[in-house]
Amino acid sequence: MTMTTRCDHPDRAISIIGAGLAGALLARLLAQRGWQVDVYERREDPRAGPVIGGRSINLALAERGWNALRLAGVADAVASQAIAMRGRAVHAMDGRVEVQPYGLTDAHVIHSVHRANLNRLLVDQAAAAGARLHFECGLRDVDWDRNELLLESDGQTLRRPFGRVIGADGAGSPLRAALARVTPQQEVWEPLGHGYKELSIPPAADGSFRMDPNALHIWPRGEFMLIALPNADRSYTVTLFLPLQGPRSFEQLQSPAAIDAFFQTEFPSAVPYLQDLQSEFAENPLGQLGTLRLSPWRLGERALLIGDAAHAVVPFHGQGMNCAFEDCALLARLLEGPDCSDAFAQLEQQRKANADAIATMAVENYQEMRDAVAQAGFLWRRQIEHALTTRFPERVLSRYALVSFTQVPYAEAQRRGAILGGIIDRLQTATDLDAIDWTLAATLVHERLSVLPDAAQLGHVDRQCPAIP
Ligand code: FAD
Repeated sequence: MTMTTRCDHPDRAISIIGAGLAGALLARLLAQRGWQVDVYERREDPRAGPVIGGRSINLALAERGWNALRLAGVADAVASQAIAMRGRAVHAMDGRVEVQPYGLTDAHVIHSVHRANLNRLLVDQAAAAGARLHFECGLRDVDWDRNELLLESDGQTLRRPFGRVIGADGAGSPLRAALARVTPQQEVWEPLGHGYKELSIPPAADGSFRMDPNALHIWPRGEFMLIALPNADRSYTVTLFLPLQGPRSFEQLQSPAAIDAFFQTEFPSAVPYLQDLQSEFAENPLGQLGTLRLSPWRLGERALLIGDAAHAVVPFHGQGMNCAFEDCALLARLLEGPDCSDAFAQLEQQRKANADAIATMAVENYQEMRDAVAQAGFLWRRQIEHALTTRFPERVLSRYALVSFTQVPYAEAQRRGAILGGIIDRLQTATDLDAIDWTLAATLVHERLSVLPDAAQLGHVDRQCPAIP
């Protein structure tokens, strides 16, 4: 006799708001586990045609994201479109380019993936697993008394009953707003004060990449920066991150002459590549950046927020999507039962501190990318960090590597990173690696850093991204 728990109930029904990156992946994961999944998405079906507008054209996919994609059985399909980035290519003012590898092995890579193609693939795979997707059908509100979603479709308001509802509806989450009406919420939005503008570098005349495709390119300029990630069509998506106001800010870039002068002064080596600079600057929207810190993320076991809806972060660690995918993988496991009656509570309990940690680390990484990577002091600390990793591999892994290449919880990566930083503080007064007191280093490492957990094993490199055609 099988025991019927809440999760074995014949109508294992769940509604998901949003068929973006997290919503579509979660829909597939839950449909694969026998849930009857309905997904409501405000926009049209991304498979219907090209996706225009929105945020970043490409994204850095790292181990946490790959892990969730493996769980959903779609990692190979994604890998076939991904481009490996082995390090940062730092572009100095004088045009010199220095490649700073992310790590010590071939497993230390992140991948550039195309947002719209990834979204299409996930939507397709959600449908293939049996999820029902309703496009151009956006959530307007929730009638909590009657357990009904109020949806807007074709100018009409529809009511749809729900058992459990999950908000994967992004940073501006309407489900979060509906939750706020019935449960006291602490919601803090921390604006960064910097915005972003997307530009592009087309392929060269012979169709080749204009720069090293296996790197994340950065033009760090102290208070601001330009970055470029490669695309499979041999173009690059370029993003300018800049203060919104102040002497060198978006506020000052109001005319073609001002834009031209700014780029000629700050990014002279990029200018010849930015062939549509003026038109793209005029046409592409100015994106805002900030961090969302929210509590709680749920209403009992009836409603839950995941991804950006619960914890939007600034993009400088390339982890927003990866973190959202990690939510999806954990939630799918919590909902595969047999007793999943407190799955929403467990998800929030296991993820909240980690979401806060990556939010903080992402802001810190902006400072590192726009400024530190160009400083001699930073490079010296990186050298010491590499040497410690090589000498004490069972205990030392950089914070960047823990976040990007492993599944060690973000809060633990942050904690270990702070300890490692303190050890490097003690060692960095030496003038070169030979001059470091390695006996002291060994003592500090053994006293302060425990053996790395199993989750620190580097992600499998079983995702064979093909050579770029
Ligand atoms: P979203 O992707 O925002 O999806 C939300 C979905 O909900 C959308 O489809 C939307 O249409 C839908 N929706 C909204 N309202 C409603 C409604 N009323 N009813 C129904 N549906 C609705 N992350 C990384 O991991 N790596 C990176 O390199 C990276 N780079 C980034 C660069 C930039 C410039 C930015 C801004 C972000 C970047 N991110 C990156 C973060 C990443 O984009 C987000 O974390 C990720 O998109 C979150 O996924 P999500 O599904 O939670 O939300």
